[in-house]
Amino acid sequence: MINVMSEMIRIPAIAPINGGTGETKRADMLERYLEGYDSVIRVDSRDDHDPGVMRPNILARKNGKEKGTVWIVAHMDTVPAGNLEDWETDPFEPVVKDGKIYGRGTEDNGQAIISSMFASKFIPKEALSKRSVGIAYVADEETTSRMGIEYLIKRGYFSDDDVFIVPDWGTPEGDLIDVAEKNLLWLQFSVTGKSTHGSTPEKGINAFKAGTGFLTDLIAEFGKEFPREDCMFRPGVSTFEPTKCAGTVMNVNTIPGNFEFSMDIRALPEYRLDDIVAVAERVAEKHEKKTGARIDIRELQRHDSGRISSTRGAVFDSLIDSIESVTGVRPKPAGIGGATCANFFRKEGYDAYVWECGGGTLHGPNEYVMIDNMVTDAKVFASMFYKLCVG
Ligand SMILES: [Zn+2]
Repeated sequence: MINVMSEMIRIPAIAPINGGTGETKRADMLERYLEGYDSVIRVDSRDDHDPGVMRPNILARKNGKEKGTVWIVAHMDTVPAGNLEDWETDPFEPVVKDGKIYGRGTEDNGQAIISSMFASKFIPKEALSKRSVGIAYVADEETTSRMGIEYLIKRGYFSDDDVFIVPDWGTPEGDLIDVAEKNLLWLQFSVTGKSTHGSTPEKGINAFKAGTGFLTDLIAEFGKEFPREDCMFRPGVSTFEPTKCAGTVMNVNTIPGNFEFSMDIRALPEYRLDDIVAVAERVAEKHEKKTGARIDIRELQRHDSGRISSTRGAVFDSLIDSIESVTGVRPKPAGIGGATCANFFRKEGYDAYVWECGGGTLHGPNEYVMIDNMVTDAKVFASMFYKLCVG
């Protein structure tokens, strides 16, 4: 497992839009390790930013006797390394130290690539009297998923009889299973006033002042309109956070005519994103009247969550039983604020479960995977394959 992980980390797999060349070389390398499966299908899609680059997806399967496949879905792409000075080692030269492997993409999502490969590799095809065993290695999770999991779902590679496990989020103890994700909305607010000299504010409209007054009111209104709590989610409320903010003026004695900020909104699934936008528009209109500034709202990203995956029945039971038998901990279902490939399945009406051991160093410098976590995950998935595919 350490050797395959190390070989993989030496091959960067960064999206063209982030300055990389995609996952093709990494996919070629992984495909060489997928021996002994009944079928290994490669589904490439053209990159929509750089049409010269193909984004690869791999579907490997060992056929069972009954309908349906138990899929483990892992993504091959990674985010860029970031500032190299923050790294203690070369992000693309794996280092094994103190039970960990350091390198970009080791935890996110290399851990799942390796655990699913080793959980499925040694199961004899002849033993599969029930469902099929499948692993899906997909592209483009870190940016849009349009050329990855969404591409596969839209083209009908999955069916209602399938089971989906997405090991792309977890807790160190493995005690939570993500069965739901919040709705995500990014809004940008551009406030246009009128610039003037700092000594004569009455001759202009201070966009900064109008914008921050509006923002304070907006956060309070969001809290009033969308107050519900759901203890299954972490955190249990909808969150409305101002995040990015552009500079106003270069000098202190000018009243700024423009002010721009963005919000990251993660709402409980029961709230509709259109209703949130409507509240923002209403509060903006009120402040336009009050201050004379113009407030334009632009949607930067929207991501509606699908329905909550079922926490009843044989599939969910086999997952929690497998986790308990390997880790000794009986996990609980939870909802999270992040967004994984699982949500694309949920939007299509499928149940999908996100689970792995770990979480913490992804996307940052000095990313690492705990070798024990990789092994624990592989044991859990092997146990689950045994329950659902062997008998
Ligand atoms: Zn990931």
